[in-house]
Amino acid sequence: MSTKKFVTAINCMDGRVQLPVIEWMKKHTNADFVDMITEPGPNKILAENNDSHLLQSLKKRVEISVTKHASSQIAVVGHFDCAGNPLNKTIQLQQLKEAILTIQAWGFQVPVIGLWIDDQWTVHQVF
Ligand SMILES: [Zn+2]
Repeated sequence: MSTKKFVTAINCMDGRVQLPVIEWMKKHTNADFVDMITEPGPNKILAENNDSHLLQSLKKRVEISVTKHASSQIAVVGHFDCAGNPLNKTIQLQQLKEAILTIQAWGFQVPVIGLWIDDQWTVHQVF
């Protein structure tokens, strides 16, 4: 087991949101590294919770981060101008809430938070 501290982000694949999420999580969790699991519009995928193949893939990647890296927190992300999830902020925040419930139901003993990234690429913890 590594002595470095890890956390986990289920982030959009969008290149604009990688560094903001890494920097925010390192600052707010004291993690050394952020394991990055990316899909287009992950809050939508996890809220809908119906693509079993993709959900198993996401769960497997979270499991590796939690069990092999002892990740201490999981963040799921939604953002402004998302090509994979072009819905408005109000709906995306609702999806984030539902996405957190999906991840919590996987049963990892790790807190799950929701992050929103605005049109200035600033990260906000919303859940
Ligand atoms: Zn996106």
